[in-house]
Parts: sequence; structure tokens; C-alpha cells
Amino acid sequence: PVRTRFAPSPTGFLHLGSLRTALYNYLLARNTNGQFLLRLEDTDQKRLIEGAEENIYEILKWCNINYDETPIKQSERKLIYDKYVKILLSSGKAYRCFCSKERLNDLRHSAMELKPPSMASYDRCCAHLGEEEIKSKLAQGIPFTVRFKSPERYPTFTDLLHGQINLQPQVNFNDKRYDDLILVKSDKLPTYHLANVVDDHLMGITHVIRGEEWLPSTPKHIALYNAFGWACPKFIHIPLLTTVGDKKLSKRKGDMSISDLKRQGVLPEALINFCALFGWSPPRDLASKKHECFSMEELETIFNLNGLTKGNAKVDDKKLWFFNKHFLQKRILNPSTLRELVDDIMPSLESIYNTSTISREKVAKILLNCGGSLSRINDFHDEFYYFFEKPKYNDNDAVTKFLGKNESRHIAHLLKKLGQFQEGTDAQEVESMVETMYYENGFSRKVTYQAMRFALAGCHPGAKIAAMIDILGIKESNKRLSEGLQ
Ligand code: GLU
Repeated sequence: PVRTRFAPSPTGFLHLGSLRTALYNYLLARNTNGQFLLRLEDTDQKRLIEGAEENIYEILKWCNINYDETPIKQSERKLIYDKYVKILLSSGKAYRCFCSKERLNDLRHSAMELKPPSMASYDRCCAHLGEEEIKSKLAQGIPFTVRFKSPERYPTFTDLLHGQINLQPQVNFNDKRYDDLILVKSDKLPTYHLANVVDDHLMGITHVIRGEEWLPSTPKHIALYNAFGWACPKFIHIPLLTTVGDKKLSKRKGDMSISDLKRQGVLPEALINFCALFGWSPPRDLASKKHECFSMEELETIFNLNGLTKGNAKVDDKKLWFFNKHFLQKRILNPSTLRELVDDIMPSLESIYNTSTISREKVAKILLNCGGSLSRINDFHDEFYYFFEKPKYNDNDAVTKFLGKNESRHIAHLLKKLGQFQEGTDAQEVESMVETMYYENGFSRKVTYQAMRFALAGCHPGAKIAAMIDILGIKESNKRLSEGLQ
């Protein structure tokens, strides 16, 4: 069975790129009835960021990306890595390197000065140490790293998205240098490369979907698999995310952290839909029919590797808000999620108004009647404040703009008459009263409604007039209609 994993390093908060990686791995597993696992790559102790690990659990849960087994933490598995390092050391496929930082720095500099410069910089001096020398250095407590004796040429491999990959270390053949990967750092903890390979093997991972930035590491990883005599997983390197202006997105750019988006009012469904389409397109017939809106359940059934695309994926905020509007509307139309939305909105209203003007029913009615215009729930108050307090008639000549002065006087008069709805008048009656009135007074329907809307809600577009009157209540509506245009 397919087994995938998401292997974030808690060195930053989750951002769009990492969420997409998690999502694709998750979807591939769900689509194939396989398993999706979580592994925290936290061996680089210096770079860990407080709260980042919790952020990973929290965001995955919020997005409904559920993993199948207890998450694995690399920092707790030192003994396991030690065991595998021993195997490589004893077979001569790895060696201890006691070179000082200064020496390594000099080597790096001299490698860069070669013509052509060599990316591989180590001269492999410690690979030739005799057993006695090693013993004495160990006894002296000289710090060391463990290096992988990398092959002359790296294996080529097939990436399921990019095809055949042949990446060779850039070496200068006149001056023998080696790209001997460090497997264990001087703090005795494994590097990303070693832990990643050992764990993918032990966890039985069959497919690794990860960002393109890891592509140059993959030949080294495969060389390691070969050294252990293990089969490697299939690799799929997905293109980087760029902003619309083609700039690379990065973890450090806080504006794209998922927590920030969450705070801005982005719904997880919208985010998942948004992320799914970065570098993957749904089967054509589905895409056009559904305007690209997909729920997680739908994605689980339709996701497959054939839909992955190679070009860089551009992140376009507009699309995110489009999806958000769509999914917000869906939540409004479902009674149980509507209740949750009301729960979210109530506290902020309670902090502004006294409780007599606000009620859960009123908020629910507003959402049902006017929520279609909302892109995010955070805008509720800005958009609909006029249901709770007198609208700001800051564009007082709005009516004279579309009417002559005389007519506006008539309109004011008409509204006054309209502002006499009886308690208990229902929406239908309101509509028909308005219809007769504008007709009798010789106004256009459009103008009458515009004027009423202005009186009831200021310049805001929004619900149908009858719905607005229903939400405001007859008393308040009458008051606004008769006073609004004075
Ligand atoms: N820890 C790596 C990261 O943060 C994982 C890369 C991989 O998936 O192998 O991206």
C-alpha cells in the first residue's frame, strides 16, 4: 500500500508551501487507500523555533489533514540513527572526520578558487586514518563528524514529475575533492540527510512528495539508500510557489504563514482548495463544471499524480478570497455551521452594543439574507453595522445624485409615508405596498428602492428591502424611513 509522510522541520511556522506539501501527500494516501504519516525533523536543535511544533499539529488539525499513526520525532530517535551509522562505519562506507572548522573553511575557500570552482570541497584526508590514529583522537576527545564516502558519480533516478534526473557533483578533476556528506554532526545528532533516509526506510514510505528545493539532495539520498542496500521510495518534487510578481515565497515572509491567514478570516476549506490547485489541476471535465471549487472529500477522490504540473505555481490572493466566499456561503447555508458562525460573531458584537439590539437570531438572519456578499466573517461588523446602529449617512446627497432636487423632496415625502408599516407586516406586504406607492407617485421602481435602501442602510448594498425591514424590525425601519432623508 502507498505510505506517504509530511516531514516538516519545526524551524518556522507552517506556510502555504509546506501546507501544500502536506496536502498532496495526504491526498495521495487517501486516494489510494494508503496511509499518511507525520514526522518532525527536529534534529537541527539550533534552528528550532518555539511554538513551531505545536503550530504544525494545530494547523493540520484545523485543516482536517489527519495522520494515521503517532507522529515521529527525530530528536527522540538518536539511538536508532547511531545504530545505522555504525553499520556504515564498519563497512567503510562512512568515516569519522576530525578536521577542525578552520581547516574545513580553508578547504572550502581553496575549492572555490579552483578553475572551475568545485562545490565539493573536502579532500577526504580523514578517510585514510589508521585505526590507531582514530582511537587516539577519540581518546583525546577531539570532536568529529561522520561523513558518507560518496560515490564518484551519483546515481541517476526517475522523478515521477520531472522524469530522468542526472545530477552530478560539480568537481574539479585536477584537484581531487569529494562531496562527502556529513551524516552526524559534531553534536552527535544526525543531519537531515541521514535521519530522513533512515526514517523513510523504517517507516515504509513508498512516495515522497516534497518541494523542488530538495531535488539536489535526492541523488545523495539515493546513494545512501544504495549504501544500506535499501530500495528507495518514489520521488516527486513539486514546483516552488511564487507570488504573482514571481518572487519566491519563503517561510520567513510572515504574511503567508497559515496562522496569519487564519487570523485574517480564511476558512480551512478555502485554504485547502487554494493549496490543492498550486501545481495540480483536476481532471478537465470536473474543473470547468465546478468553477474549481472542491471540498476535501472531493479532492480525496479525484487527486492523482497525473494532474501535477511542472511550472512554478503563482499564489494569487484574489483566488483565495473567491474560494473563501464560496465556502463561507456553504457554511451559512448549513444550520450547524451557521450556528458556529454566529458563535464566532457574537462576542465582538457584545463588546460593542448593549444586548437589547443584538440576538443570535438576528445575526443568523443577517448572514442568511446578506452573507452572500461577505468574503470573510471578520468583515461582518463593517459590512452590517447598520443593523445594530443608525447608518452613517455620510453621502447625504446620494439621492440628489440620481434625482433632481424636486424629485428628492417627493422621495422624502414618499419615504415618510412608507415609514408607517404596521407592526406585523410581513415581507410580502412590504413589497406590495412599495410597489403601489411608487407607482401611484410616478417614480421608477429603481429610484424608490434606492432611496429606501439609502434611508434604511446608508450607502450599503445588501439584503432585499423586505428582508432588511424584517431584520431591523418595523419600528426601527419606520423611524429610518421617515428620518433618513431629512
Ligand atoms: N524537513 C524537510 C523540510 O522541512 C523535509 C524534506 C522532505 O520531505 O524530505 O522540508
